[in-house]
Amino acid sequence: MEKGYVYLVGAGPGDIRLLTVKGQQCLEMADVVLYDRLVNPLVLEKTKPGAELVYCGKLPDRHLLRQEAINDLLVKYALEGKVVVRLKGGDPSVYGRVGEEAAELEKFQIDYEIVPGITAGIGASTYAGVPVTHRDYGASFAIVTGHDKSADGQPLIDWQGLAKAIDTIAFYMGVKNLPYICEQLIENGRKKDTPVLLVQWGTLGKQKTLMGTLETIAQLVKEQKFSNPAITIVGDVAKLRKTESWFERQPLFGKHILFGRTSEGESEIASELTRLGAEVLEYPRFITETKEIDLDFANYDEIIFHSPKSVKWFFNQLKKQRLDIRSLTATLYGASMKSIKAIESFACLGFPIREMMEGRKRLLIGPDVWKERVQQRMELYGQHDFLASHSELIVAQSNFTCQRILDEDRVDTIVFPSAESVKVVTEQITACNETPATLSERAEIICFGPATYNAAIRYGYLVTTTLQEPSGHALVNELVKTRSS
Ligand code: SAH
Repeated sequence: MEKGYVYLVGAGPGDIRLLTVKGQQCLEMADVVLYDRLVNPLVLEKTKPGAELVYCGKLPDRHLLRQEAINDLLVKYALEGKVVVRLKGGDPSVYGRVGEEAAELEKFQIDYEIVPGITAGIGASTYAGVPVTHRDYGASFAIVTGHDKSADGQPLIDWQGLAKAIDTIAFYMGVKNLPYICEQLIENGRKKDTPVLLVQWGTLGKQKTLMGTLETIAQLVKEQKFSNPAITIVGDVAKLRKTESWFERQPLFGKHILFGRTSEGESEIASELTRLGAEVLEYPRFITETKEIDLDFANYDEIIFHSPKSVKWFFNQLKKQRLDIRSLTATLYGASMKSIKAIESFACLGFPIREMMEGRKRLLIGPDVWKERVQQRMELYGQHDFLASHSELIVAQSNFTCQRILDEDRVDTIVFPSAESVKVVTEQITACNETPATLSERAEIICFGPATYNAAIRYGYLVTTTLQEPSGHALVNELVKTRSS
């Protein structure tokens, strides 16, 4: 059997848009992904449907054993011929043990690549508004561990060299040893009033910061029960921290949204929420399976499309049949504005369905699930033939991502853009051991319009808000309002 291939990839510090383009391409190719505790689960949504996801969260007391087990797994999957991604938080070569993993792969002559990522020391400080170097405040920068293999866990470092020679120091894994670290730096000549900034869960919606000095920070950390994962930035650059950073000022910073989805692809509204600073899981995930059908379209006077996907499918089908649209006499209708626009993007006129005419030979083209709904609206669609252009299949993997973010308590808002989305989400979410009642407890429920509200109530949700106008704009306004209240 041919050997597989391994990518040792850095996922970045948290914000999924900080994943590199190459990192994303690796995830899209992977058959298996072994990922760490600090990797944002939302990144897993980039994997192809059916990819195997293996959690390798390390337990602090079983560090060594676990690393060996991970190495074994990497080798095992690669020898099975699989494309494997080992996904780590931040950059894989910064306290990521990538050297050991690479050595193990070399031993078995398995080919691999290392894909760098943005390390937390830089990502988290940038998102907290502090550049690690600055012409006036810091010319040098060091990455230092705040925890070590020594018996007491305290790092074995040349403290004098560090305190004297480096302007900005980023300590990783250092919260527990902070009193020791500050003491050492002061003893070795660093001024007591040197600014210190802690950033916990940097670049994520739950980012928290704490400002102090070498003299005060240890006490502040104790008082505020500040904990890992956090980065400690020591140096004058930390002075540049403002009350709120550019990231924390974003209108939807801190919002964790589960956005109901009913078909493949990103919704424009969900993308907008992300752009405004929210963390969004579009759930569940779908994959479109198109159908191959040979049908003589020339037999129809009217063709009605359910969605842009159906329109695209139709024109593709014509091409496959080597049929020119000018040979058809049918009028084309769209069941939505989006479908009409899609028709017109192919240089044909599209009409709204209210303009359909009676007594003509009619063909409806849409996803297979539309058939049932059409049956219930016979008064509108009348006598017709139905053609399923595609089906939208749920990718069960997204339950895995959803479960992880629920476990991390990272959903505070659920948005239902349609009645259909209420049904889909409710059916899927049972796989994550949740019900409408438990979801209503942990999150605000927002519905787009009265039909969605009615569906949500029927399923047993406690609806917080029904939007006056079912638009992205109204949703953003609502979310901003609840954020500041
Ligand atoms: N390879 C990672 C570091 C792994 S060591 C990287 O390059 O970033 C784990 C430590 O990284 C944590 O204890 C914490 O100090 C830091 N860390 C990781 N993600 C972080 C985040 N989002 N915010 C703050 N610190 C983080």
